[in-house]
Amino acid sequence: MPLQQVTILGATGSIGVSTLDVVQRHPERFSVFALSSHSRVEKLYHQILAFRPRYAVVATAEQAQQLQQQLKAAQCDTEVLSGPEGLVAVSSAAEVDQVMAAIVGAAGLLPTLAAAQAGKRVLLANKESLVSAGKLFMDAVRDHGAELLPIDSEHNAIFQCLPAQWQAQQQGKLFERGVSKILLTGSGGPFRETPIAELAGKTPAQAVAHPNWSMGQKISVDSATMMNKGLEFIEACRLFDARPDQIEVVIHPQSVIHSMVQYSDGSVLAQLGQPDMRTPIAHAMMFPERGQSGVEPLNFADIAKLDFLPPDFDRYPCLRLAIEACQQDQESCTLLNAANEISVERFLAGQIRFTDIAAVNGEVMAAGSDIRIANLEDVLAIDQQGRQLAAQFCAQRQREGV
Ligand code: NDP
Ligand code: MG
Repeated sequence: MPLQQVTILGATGSIGVSTLDVVQRHPERFSVFALSSHSRVEKLYHQILAFRPRYAVVATAEQAQQLQQQLKAAQCDTEVLSGPEGLVAVSSAAEVDQVMAAIVGAAGLLPTLAAAQAGKRVLLANKESLVSAGKLFMDAVRDHGAELLPIDSEHNAIFQCLPAQWQAQQQGKLFERGVSKILLTGSGGPFRETPIAELAGKTPAQAVAHPNWSMGQKISVDSATMMNKGLEFIEACRLFDARPDQIEVVIHPQSVIHSMVQYSDGSVLAQLGQPDMRTPIAHAMMFPERGQSGVEPLNFADIAKLDFLPPDFDRYPCLRLAIEACQQDQESCTLLNAANEISVERFLAGQIRFTDIAAVNGEVMAAGSDIRIANLEDVLAIDQQGRQLAAQFCAQRQREGV
């Protein structure tokens, strides 16, 4: 089998590092075509020396120039590109087979879409791009013959539990093929048992300390608010062409089951494993084969019990907002995703309280958007609107100490 050329968008992040770990276990299968970073250029420099990609992409032209000189001094001939154009170029280059979309937030939309439009195997970690662009993104995948494989552990688990025929083609109506429900599991995050009245005082450090998973800061906060599960709810609707009433969120604190699919004959299939993203990454990169990921199998003697409970929407108002957005329309999903990126950023910067995240997101949703999505420009315009509104509401809360 010829070497698969892989581009890793967001190589310096948590998913990026796990992807490189899987890649280095399979030198006979994968070769790194390109790596990208945004702020952690020093980390990228070391990754480049270890993996020797053809290209690297950084945020600005100045960063690119500096890094290019450093690499030259180290006798490394990787070419450094910059900005969104650089990201799009390494996602769509003819030589590339697979693109790991692991940039955080809607900033990942353009290069991820470019990979889909170039007909690549798209390994989708960046859920925000799918939530933001919705059908537009799924249409690009279909129209350009791309292969979309979910990396998000829940969606990867669901994918693994689907009929083999559907997995191979990734088209056709699942819910007409015996699937009756998707059961989306989530741990409930670090504040699952915190008295609701104490949530307002929770600090960024407490919010990012996830009990089971080690992840980037934004998704860790999203897990604490359960906006992450909300975004995943929308992601599941788009990926599996499901209606909101065909998806059920189940709190499962141990994170042993990563999600389940219920069939009309009463069967429920689940995928189990350690909470380690190298499992879904290895699955998607080697699909339909299987290979080493470096993850130890579960030891069932250590798992005393598995708990399951329904989500409490008073504790997790962001989850409710996301489900409502999903029930409403794509515009609401785009707006909510944008608002949440800003409110989480302001919370991490210490400018608003933990509970303000949901409050601000709710205020943006109530304000709404008058734009209807017909093309990518409309998506980007609503994204901007959501960001501006959220910034205003955050500033207001900060000023008034609401
Ligand atoms: P991290 O914050 O750890 O990494 C984010 C990556 O994106 C970094 O490489 C960062 O570069 C880069 N980046 C940040 N902002 C920009 C920007 N504006 N333009 C270009 N690149 C940018 O995040 P994670 O790895 O945790 O998450 C990545 C994506 O995967 C998210 O969408 C998340 O929801 C999803 N995901 C993550 C999981 C996990 O376990 N971590 C699980 C499931 C999904 P730099 O570091 O150099 O600034
Ligand atoms: Mg997930």
